[in-house]
Amino acid sequence: MHSNCIWITGASRGIGASTARKFAAQGWNMALTCLHSTDLLQALKQELEDQFHITCRTFTADMGDYAQVASCMEDILQTFGHVDVLVNNAGISRIGLFSDLSPGDWQTILQTNLTSVFNCCHQALPSMLREKSGRIINISSVWGCVGASCEAAYSAAKGGVNALTQALAKELAPSGIPVNAIACGAIDTDMNGGLSVQERTALEEEIPAGRFGLPWEVADLIWHLTQTPVYLTGQILRLDGGWI
Ligand code: NAD
Repeated sequence: MHSNCIWITGASRGIGASTARKFAAQGWNMALTCLHSTDLLQALKQELEDQFHITCRTFTADMGDYAQVASCMEDILQTFGHVDVLVNNAGISRIGLFSDLSPGDWQTILQTNLTSVFNCCHQALPSMLREKSGRIINISSVWGCVGASCEAAYSAAKGGVNALTQALAKELAPSGIPVNAIACGAIDTDMNGGLSVQERTALEEEIPAGRFGLPWEVADLIWHLTQTPVYLTGQILRLDGGWI
């Protein structure tokens, strides 16, 4: 009987950090990644290891870069021997007119939000298939379902994540590996830190629940998705307070 291990990408803050806290409290070991915030991630590791006596490996690496993901995976397998749950959470958003979107920005947004999911799934799957167990949970967005004005690249990337989730779910169902996505609405994290008070209030008025979602609510749904029958697969679950 091995102890559970979760790999969460983009865990230095926001939804990823909240998810790390949720699983650490349940005694799971974990591998956490971030792009630049090494100090934040290190502090989180210290907090979780001290409080919950788990093992946490951290990596400052770009999940959009296949070679960097492969090197994380090598270390994760050496440390833990397996990954039970992969949470593809790393992401960035940029707001602006389509005509102002440079080819470079398009590339970065697709690379970070979509290629990262390919990279991590591609690296995590061989050991999951060998063990005939594992789960993949992709953190997507309602904009991947319906598209957002001034977020064309982000919407395209998250739409790609949704389609990849459904395609991979079909391919992996015979192996008993569920693949699901959570399409978040507006969640109260630094990603929305650039909104003015007026913009935020306007958004809150649009959301039937009357407020932004909270990172722990996403973490809670991720937790529940690790407890569901593996027969539940290929689902895009909207967590948006009734918004879309
Ligand atoms: P956040 O900005 O607070 O955190 C993003 C995390 O991703 C950070 O830890 C950052 O280091 C990491 N990251 C970014 N680029 C990376 C890369 N190339 N490689 C590795 N790590 C990288 O954002 P958040 O709100 O917690 O968002 C988490 C996920 O939820 C994202 O995929 C985002 O698109 C999605 N989401 C968020 C909202 C929202 O309203 N906050 C809505 C819908 C979807």
